[in-house]
Amino acid sequence: MIPAPFDYERAGSVDEAIELLGSREEAKLLAGGHSLLPLMKLRFSRPSLLVDIGRVDELSGVSDAGDRLAIGAGTRHHDLNNDPLVQEHCPIVSWTAGLIGDPQVRHRGTIGGSIAHGDPASDLPAVLVALDAELVIRGPDGERTMPAVDFCSGVFDVALGLQDVLTEVRVPKLGPDVGWSYLKLARRAQDWAMVAVAALVTRSNGTIGDARIALTNMGPVPMRAPAAEQRLAGAPRDAGSDTEYALSEAAAVADQGTDPPGDVTASPEFRRELARVVTKRALEEALSR
Ligand code: FAD
Repeated sequence: MIPAPFDYERAGSVDEAIELLGSREEAKLLAGGHSLLPLMKLRFSRPSLLVDIGRVDELSGVSDAGDRLAIGAGTRHHDLNNDPLVQEHCPIVSWTAGLIGDPQVRHRGTIGGSIAHGDPASDLPAVLVALDAELVIRGPDGERTMPAVDFCSGVFDVALGLQDVLTEVRVPKLGPDVGWSYLKLARRAQDWAMVAVAALVTRSNGTIGDARIALTNMGPVPMRAPAAEQRLAGAPRDAGSDTEYALSEAAAVADQGTDPPGDVTASPEFRRELARVVTKRALEEALSR
């Protein structure tokens, strides 16, 4: 439970962090430390240098960017949960941030750390995939953006180079015609999700115009549920048996194409069943919002 020896530097800016990352092999960024430090204590991770970005002002906070919100990667879960802009324009993000861990975790952990860590059980990545969010990354060769859906390539494996810093998360503002839900099923309060489902449903005249569903912990990366989404396009949306039937049909194929893990909390088969059940509930909730 004691980490291997490491050096520590506090970066004052993103550019300084990039420089410090290049100064040593095995250097790593430290944000909230709530994923990295446990790994270091178990000696699964042994960085020679920790570059602390926890007090880099340019990484923190939310701003209005027209039809989108720009969320600094260093914004803590607690602040995201309570941010008035996020609550008004992208409530699925503030809601989900409020479901992460316990108050201590939410006061230290950051959205950037959650994404960069690449844990398929993390909550915010699936929400960002459902939202078609964009990530901004800065490295020694400048800045680039990429869709959140392309960021994770495997368990703890993400599209970041050794000197890259995730700086911003761009999420769309949701109009009043978009219903949303993030439903998380965990064995105990404050645990990681066994399975969770993010659902966004666009309502048009009497029907569902567009549905976006993303799943947490149903494979090595957060993933969309395309078969379920396709069944919902054009389906009825008002309360009644036709809508009920359409939601059931969609939920029944929510696990198609997934590759859920088995662990002490759930077997792969149980996760598939949970994904179908939770998808139905999430869609019902999204339509009612
Ligand atoms: P850190 O631990 O500092 O860093 C994590 C990784 O990301 C490191 O590799 C680091 O180098 C890298 N990194 C950090 N910031 C950046 C950046 N800006 N650019 C590039 N790389 C970066 N998460 C959930 O989603 N749901 C839960 O229910 C949940 N429960 C938890 C319960 C406990 C008890 C604990 C300890 C954690 C829990 N977490 C949960 C994880 C929590 O959300 C972490 O805070 C988060 O995963 C990592 O964020 P961090 O800021 O602490 O990152």
